[in-house]
Formats: sequence, C-alpha cells, structure tokens
Amino acid sequence: MIDFNIALELVGEIAQTLNPISIPVINSVGYILDEDIYSPLDMPPFVKSAMDGYAYKNEIKDYTKIELKNIGMVAAGDFFTGNIKSDECISIMTGAPLPDSTDTVIPIENTEKEGDLITFRKNMITGANVCLKGEDISKGALILEKGTLIKTSHIALLSSAGYENIKVIRKPKIAILNTGSEIIEPGKELKAGQIYNSNGQMLQAMCNNLNYDAEYIGIAEDTEETLKNAIKQGLEYDILLISGGVSMGEFDLVPGMLKESGVDKIFHKVKIKPGKPLFFGKHSNGLVFGLPGNPLSNFVGFTLFVTTAVKKMSSLSDIYPEFKSGILTKEFRQRSGRRNFFPATIEKNNDQYFITPVDSNGSADIMSLSKADGFLIAHEDISVIKEGETTEFILF
Ligand code: AMP
Ligand code: MG
Repeated sequence: MIDFNIALELVGEIAQTLNPISIPVINSVGYILDEDIYSPLDMPPFVKSAMDGYAYKNEIKDYTKIELKNIGMVAAGDFFTGNIKSDECISIMTGAPLPDSTDTVIPIENTEKEGDLITFRKNMITGANVCLKGEDISKGALILEKGTLIKTSHIALLSSAGYENIKVIRKPKIAILNTGSEIIEPGKELKAGQIYNSNGQMLQAMCNNLNYDAEYIGIAEDTEETLKNAIKQGLEYDILLISGGVSMGEFDLVPGMLKESGVDKIFHKVKIKPGKPLFFGKHSNGLVFGLPGNPLSNFVGFTLFVTTAVKKMSSLSDIYPEFKSGILTKEFRQRSGRRNFFPATIEKNNDQYFITPVDSNGSADIMSLSKADGFLIAHEDISVIKEGETTEFILF
C-alpha cells in the first residue's frame, strides 16, 4: 500500500502528453494549442469605413454647412475604383473599403439628403470613422502562443486570420468498463441480488464534465473469459477505466486479468479512504485505472487520479487537484490511518471557506455524496479535527 502523495505523483509522472493533431478551429475549445499562431494578413486587411455614411476628402475643415454631390454607393464586399472629386462624396456602408480618393466618413445621421445633394451638418476630423489597414493586428504578428488553452474568446481571432484548422494536443480517448455479475443497467427490471449500475453513468458524466468524450463499453460479469475480452477491447483506448473487481474477494479478478493482458502494475492499493484498492497500471498503448466498485470510491478515484492523468495527457497546466484550506464547523473524527476524503458542504464567507461534513452512514453512502460540494480531507496521522480548526478540502 502506498502513500496518497506518492501515488498521485506517480500518476502525474507516468501519464505522458499526447501527440499534436490538426483539428477544425470550431472544435478546438478546451484544447491546448501546439503551435505559435501568426497573422498572415493585416487586420483589417484594407482601409474601411466604421460607419454607414458618406466617404469624402475632408478639404474644407471648418464649415457650418457644406453640400457635396453623391456620386454612387460602395457596400461591404464591393470595391470602388473611380475618382471622387473634392465636391463629391459617395454613400458607404460599415465594413466597405474606403475609395482611394477619400479619407473621411461622415455618419448618415449627421447629414441630410435632397436628391443627389448631401448636406453635412457636422465638422469631421480628417480620418474620422475610418479603420486603417492593419490597425488592429499587423501582418506577421504573433496572435496566439503555443501552450494557450483555447477558449471561445479565441475563436473569432483565429477565424479572422483565416485559420480553418489548428494544431492542438490530442485529448485521450477514454473507455469505461463496469464489472460485477450483480450489476444491471438502470431502466431494466431488478432481479434478486442485483443492483443498478451507478458507476457507468457517473463516470461518463464526470468525463463529459471535464470536456472529454468517453466510450462506454458495458458491464462485464465476474468471469475470467468475459473480463479478458472486455479488457482487450478497453486497451485500445488511451485510458481504460474499470469499475469494480479490484478488491481482495474471490471474484475480484481484474488485477489478474490485467496482468495476463499485458498491463504493468504501477500500484495497487493506496492509503486513502474510501478507495483503498485502487489499481493503476500502464501498457504499450496507454493507462488503466481500476476503481473500487462502490460509487463513492469510484468518485474519489476519478476526482483525484483520473483527472490528473487526463490533464497531463492533454498538456493542461495545474494537473493536480487543487487542495484548499478552510475552517471546520463541526468536529471530525477518524481512525482509518489513511488520507480520508469525506463528503462535505463548503461555504465561502468573506474569503474564508467553512467546511461541514455531511451526515453519513459509511463509505457506500451515495446520498451524502449528492449533498456535498466537495471532500473534507483528514490526513492519515490525524484522528480528530476540532470545530474551528483549519483543514484541507477539495471542491468537486
Ligand atoms: P467491488 O469493487 O467489485 O468489490 O464492488 C464493491 C461494491 O460496490 C459492491 O457492493 C458492488 O456491488 C458495488 N458496485 C460495484 N460496481 C458497481 C456499479 N457499477 N454500480 C454500483 N455499485 C457497484
Ligand atoms: Mg465486484
């Protein structure tokens, strides 16, 4: 049995960052960029109007009223190549290229129109309402750095620079396998001795919540043959999550079957509560986590270890769980001698966190998990944390 900190570090070290792939910009949110992105063009790429109005050459700088002849129109997407004389103007739309012989745009609301004669009611500064070529971003400028976590706020920038695809770090493909001859899927009728599969849906939801797709490969009963076939299928993925079958019982066949399938054990059993029988291994293709079957143990194992591996493989920063500290509102006792993760409600008041353990009937209590915001963490060498004392916690 190994210490929690050592186990967590092993996961962080053994999980390897995956190779880059090229994906459409539209799907890239949540990925880590694996190239520096430069703008191949000036933005805007041409001198353009910022308003709907009239473009003209601003020669008479001071006037109370001038009248210019409207000689046409240039819409967004058009291009006007003719010459516009000093007593002429041209109707122009927002985003349309400014004709070469003009330098200023007067907004339509500052003008009056009578036939093709436009009366200007406001003095404009030369260059008003004109966006200069490259004024936002100049050609060749670095617009996104390698290592950036792509967010929705980056998409318009990439698109306006003309990118359709970008290079990012691939995300791990995850498979979820449940084991247990007693487990059946929700929606079916329960027979004597059977229970519903909680972990299948929960693990998929936890993957989705981290923005990872997971492939659900079903429930394997506790026989060597079935398990071996299911494991073979699961080893095609970067991460195989197996729920159940890793404890000491006669039908806990998972570690043995993993070994036969070519998986090297990194550790089996960690000094944590719940979730002690947790298994972690690797093979030529990826990683395997064996999460003890009780749903709370599954949840703890995923939150602490699987999340760390997934983040490292995707090249995300801060791969380890964020342990914060807060004040306990109610005495907490334990005798496990293991790092205890106990469902708790967490409240924040004036920058101070307050932790209250949820009433529970033991480690299988999924009701207490559903009421919790996080885990209170009691270290292995501590048996009592008194009300008002500080301790660690982690938010879900
Ligand atoms: P195991 O780790 O296979 O020894 O299972 C430990 C406990 O968790 C047993 O009571 C199992 O019935 C229960 N269990 C195992 N897998 C699941 C699951 N997928 N959903 C709900 N309970 C489970
Ligand atoms: Mg089992």
